[in-house]
Amino acid sequence: LQNEKESLYIVLDYAADFFRRNLSDTDEGRSIAGSYFRERGINSQSIEKFQLGYSLEKWTALFEDATARAYKEELLEKAGLIVRKSEDKVYDRFRGRVIFPIHNVSGRVIAFGARTLRKDDKPKYLNSPESDVYHKSKVLYGIFQAKNHIRQQDKCYLVEGYTDVISMHEADLPNVVASSGTALTTDQIKLISRFTKNITVLYDGDPAGIKASLRGIDMILESGMNVRTVVFPEGHDPDSYSRELGTSGFQKYLAEHEQDFISFKAALYASEAARDPIKRAESIKEILYSISKIPDGLKRAVYVKDTSRMLEMEESVLWSELNKLMIKEQ
Ligand code: ATP
Ligand code: MN
Ligand code: MN
Ligand code: MN
Repeated sequence: LQNEKESLYIVLDYAADFFRRNLSDTDEGRSIAGSYFRERGINSQSIEKFQLGYSLEKWTALFEDATARAYKEELLEKAGLIVRKSEDKVYDRFRGRVIFPIHNVSGRVIAFGARTLRKDDKPKYLNSPESDVYHKSKVLYGIFQAKNHIRQQDKCYLVEGYTDVISMHEADLPNVVASSGTALTTDQIKLISRFTKNITVLYDGDPAGIKASLRGIDMILESGMNVRTVVFPEGHDPDSYSRELGTSGFQKYLAEHEQDFISFKAALYASEAARDPIKRAESIKEILYSISKIPDGLKRAVYVKDTSRMLEMEESVLWSELNKLMIKEQ
């Protein structure tokens, strides 16, 4: 199995290089993908740092190049680089897309994310399938480029997408990883907690992003991490908003809008529930549920105090409800 993994790493590394050469050495890549990156403001330093590339539109560009270099069809298929159409027909999985290689924590390429260049093409992002070296639920995009910064800053930003990670680097905020649009897993939280206990969630400013952040966060609290969040204006994500505000404007926005997650949740529910007693009771339960996930008793006590103030509810009532919840969970 070690040998099989090693050959996957080798062919994936070759593919990343092939995609990179498509971008820099072909007319198609330079004109189509090059101008796409330029228009998005992704600079050449980022292209290098993240090994960005381009997959040609031709159906068998990679397959033919790889075969000429003696890579076996079976290996290319295992690596998710080609798709089998029939017994004797295969084609490239990624065609006419910009390529974001996904690296593991030690910097080896394990998979690819590929974005279409056409406005209404579906899916917008196409990813490699799982393989012996790529387990989607265990990796975070950008972890290799971020890990030392996360350790130094003792803080990790969590964003949704590839371009958010890249734009954050360009805004001098390189301690960032992306969940790649899926719900956070315990393995991913463990990965982050190797480098820091402080995580700030920067999800997209749309109802889906806010919902996703609410869902993932109880799990982060349970791991004992300190969770903060910044909410963006509707329709913006860290990529679009940092481009709009510029580096110092964006950094200032983060500094001024970063808030503790439980307080954010309490404020969100408090505004929604303002005058409706049933909703208010439900909101309080929701918040207490999050608090019940925090392993540290002292932290729980601080949150109960804050929540009591924000939701105008006796501390003693909150405590008795919280204790009930915590007994139920044991
Ligand atoms: P862009 O700015 O390039 O339009 P985005 O990163 O803002 O894209 P979102 O729609 O916010 O895209 O999705 C966030 C992330 O979710 C993406 O970066 C990608 O990792 C993942 N994702 C989105 N759509 C898909 C899809 N159809 N299949 C797989 N992953 C996806
Ligand atoms: Mn989104
Ligand atoms: Mn975006
Ligand atoms: Mn987005």
